[in-house]
Amino acid sequence: MTYELRGKTAIVTGSNSGIGLGVARALAGAGADVVLNSFTDRAEDHALAADMARAFGVKVTYVAADMSRPEDCRRLVTDNGACDILVNNAGIQHVAPIDEFPVDQWDRIIAINMSSAFHTTAAALPLMRKAGWGRVVNIASAHGLTASPYKSAYVAAKHGVVGLSKVTALETAQEPITCNAICPGYVLTPLVEAQIPDTMKKYDMGREEVIKQVMLDRQPSKEFATVEQIGGTTVFLCSANADQITGTTISVDGGWTAL
Ligand code: NAD
Repeated sequence: MTYELRGKTAIVTGSNSGIGLGVARALAGAGADVVLNSFTDRAEDHALAADMARAFGVKVTYVAADMSRPEDCRRLVTDNGACDILVNNAGIQHVAPIDEFPVDQWDRIIAINMSSAFHTTAAALPLMRKAGWGRVVNIASAHGLTASPYKSAYVAAKHGVVGLSKVTALETAQEPITCNAICPGYVLTPLVEAQIPDTMKKYDMGREEVIKQVMLDRQPSKEFATVEQIGGTTVFLCSANADQITGTTISVDGGWTAL
């Protein structure tokens, strides 16, 4: 078994916070050079890259590119010139009933959560073929396999990402390239952590009650998944043990999809 990714270049979309940052850290920890990305271009984004490079002794750059724009998605990959590992992670959410769902929010979620993965993959496959090795890891969701009301665009986009992962796997099946989707349940990211105090007030409950009874209502383990676990699963999919794992989903959801 090897998790040594030294000499490989990984591009992780939407990686200046949350799961994307956790995945980027795990890949850097396994020795990969990393390209961080989001749509912002702040000093702190570039400082994040510099800190990660120092911490892990690998090359880390930050590239601003808006994953709602097809040309930005392709530029992020082609301008880098190398992409051995592509992690499609950028994502947003909006919650509303279908008949009230704002059309611009539908279009934005489909673009960022699903179409961006098509554009980056289209740009990355020629580079992977040139290098003779590649891994595409799509961060889908339990909502790529199941549904919840009021999340039409998100659920449609995540099911789409699972489908795209299967097609990518079939088109590369006889090459040393794999494509899989990770389907996290509820993951404790800074965004989720920030929702806990308001939810405690809303339900007049303590922290543990809110986490177990409200937020993790559908997660049988009653534990959040962590960004480190999603990072570790990504590194596993990049290892030699995963050479024959392609076109499938790996749930990291505390049993959500077993219900
Ligand atoms: P987050 O908000 O912390 O991270 C989202 C990332 O995407 C950020 O870095 C953000 O800057 C970036 N992003 C947003 N719009 C962008 C754009 N237009 N262009 C480029 N980057 C953009 O949220 P997260 O929870 O870490 O989510 C990351 C991924 O994991 C998403 O695809 C999400 O659907 C998925 N996911 C999250 C959970 C969870 O419980 N947190 C569960 C299942 C799946």
